[in-house]
Amino acid sequence: MKPTKIVLLAKDMALAIDKEILRLVNFPGPKLTKILPISLIFNFFLSKKSKSSSINLSKFSLLFINLLVYDRLLSMITKTILSLAASIIKFIIFYLFFLNAYADTVNKKYEPYEKGILALMYHRFEENKYPSTNIKIDVFQKHLDIIRENNFSFLNPKNFELEFNKVSEEKKILLTIDDAFSSFYLNAWPILKKDKIPFILFVSTESVGKNGYMSWDEIIEISKEDFVFIGNHSHTHDYLVKYKFEKFEKDILKSMKIFEKNLGYNSKFFSYPFGEYSLEQKKYISKNFDYAFGQHSGVIDLNKDKYELPRFPINEKYGDLERFKFLINLLPIQFKIIIPEEKFLLEENNPPYLIIEFFDDQPNINKINCFSNEGGEWKDSKLNYKKNRIEVIFNEKFLPRRGRINCSMQDKDGWKWFGTQFTLN
Ligand SMILES: [Zn+2]
Repeated sequence: MKPTKIVLLAKDMALAIDKEILRLVNFPGPKLTKILPISLIFNFFLSKKSKSSSINLSKFSLLFINLLVYDRLLSMITKTILSLAASIIKFIIFYLFFLNAYADTVNKKYEPYEKGILALMYHRFEENKYPSTNIKIDVFQKHLDIIRENNFSFLNPKNFELEFNKVSEEKKILLTIDDAFSSFYLNAWPILKKDKIPFILFVSTESVGKNGYMSWDEIIEISKEDFVFIGNHSHTHDYLVKYKFEKFEKDILKSMKIFEKNLGYNSKFFSYPFGEYSLEQKKYISKNFDYAFGQHSGVIDLNKDKYELPRFPINEKYGDLERFKFLINLLPIQFKIIIPEEKFLLEENNPPYLIIEFFDDQPNINKINCFSNEGGEWKDSKLNYKKNRIEVIFNEKFLPRRGRINCSMQDKDGWKWFGTQFTLN
């Protein structure tokens, strides 16, 4: 049995025990209700035999008070014992939850030669009235040239499994394009097709064929190439993170059904709309897809979570060539785990208590600097370095909709980077 399974099993068992104990705590001690009628009948027969009713009455009240005190005492003791047991079990459950989060890291180790897979995220091409999601086509062409000048190869998504699971001693670039706008098909597709440059196109099924979006005919046409992969980007592309689970599930199932109908398969790649997800949603996605991409910045390495893969968003503002050159040369900062796993923040856990745990033999952890946008403004984060972990101390709450933390460091290999993102209600 795998350690993960054992922990999960133990966790479920502990939960069941906890429920039982809590149910017992609510019982009203050793049944005053049962003892009282018996004592009343007993007293009734006693009083019939006796001549002095006043003595009997006081005897009865004494007995009654005795019973009451006995009952309250016993009930208090029972409650104390049971609530103590309940808190011990609650502690065990908390501990097992913690272990469970760690279970996936058991077989992971620090890989000093990992250069990673760097995923880029584009949206619109030459739609210059939308600078925050657009890239000018001549700039896009230059991006591709820069990637080739740096001798980085483009990763074909068909080899993603293989490449993700091994140490990438050479950096690889993965192109991803979200939303399947017509401007991609008109302006970028001819360039990518000519040089057979691989990419994943993430499609939200509801918008296909609508004004400004690619049609199924166009999507099917490009999907026939072996360097093209179509990924799932939900059905409605709504702010799904706010959905109740049933509504979220319905949206994803609908998109999968439409994928099946038009392409004959569901994709193994998913990208969260707006890069937002709750832990419950991430777990659901993990049951239906092999990999899922967010919109937090960073470089993919073999220690990253398959269902929250980072990508660098590229647009006109962040697409300038100097920044692009710096960005594609970034290396991953590997880590063991980020706590909390839940990236959807409710009022009561904003700001979160963030812990990043690294590998024991991982060098230069004390060189890492982080910056974050709590209170609506980017600033250096206050960090507590503790052996192989960093605790990030936030002084203010994150403001809707995003809380972002980006960390970087420079060592002999170059600049390294990772980021994480919280979504707020
Ligand atoms: Zn999108």
